[in-house]
Amino acid sequence: PLPVLAVVGRPNVGKSTLVNRILGRREAVVEDRPGVTRDRVTYEAEWAGRRFKVVDTGGWEQDVLGIDAAVAAQAEFAIEAADAVVFVVDSTVGATDTDEAVVKLLRRAGKPVVLCANKVDGPTGEPDAAMLWSLGLGEPHPVSSLHGRGTGDLLDAVLEAL
Ligand code: GDP
Ligand code: MG
Repeated sequence: PLPVLAVVGRPNVGKSTLVNRILGRREAVVEDRPGVTRDRVTYEAEWAGRRFKVVDTGGWEQDVLGIDAAVAAQAEFAIEAADAVVFVVDSTVGATDTDEAVVKLLRRAGKPVVLCANKVDGPTGEPDAAMLWSLGLGEPHPVSSLHGRGTGDLLDAVLEAL
């Protein structure tokens, strides 16, 4: 069976946009409105000649549970089923309480985590990414999922974690 990579994070941080970058095509649904990916969706991906599965997660049950509980529930399921996790944070917003809650889940799960500091669309965003060292998850990888900046380095780190 192929190794499984889960992509987790708050609504609207750019998880589905990143998944599309990883796939090299547009398949995961991207929306300005949070909570559009209604369930976990699995795709097959390849990088540097290695194949793996990538799981996009979304805000399912968000309406029932509220955002925090929904993000936690989604992350918990996805982390459990994964060999490695990409944790996506919106570096233009910085770490929120919900992000900190996910960090706790990630610590408890003990799976390898690659930290994606997303929405670093240019060099001026780099300091925002560096702020995310404070999460204690190691190096924040500055990425623009929208433009593709930094995604190669992120995927190299993913392959090491898988
Ligand atoms: P998800 O809810 O985490 O899956 O987030 P989406 O992938 O649906 O993206 C939410 C919004 O953020 C969309 O408007 C995306 O175009 C935007 N977005 C995603 N990645 C980036 C990025 O790297 N830079 C910028 N500026 N916007 C982004
Ligand atoms: Mg999504």
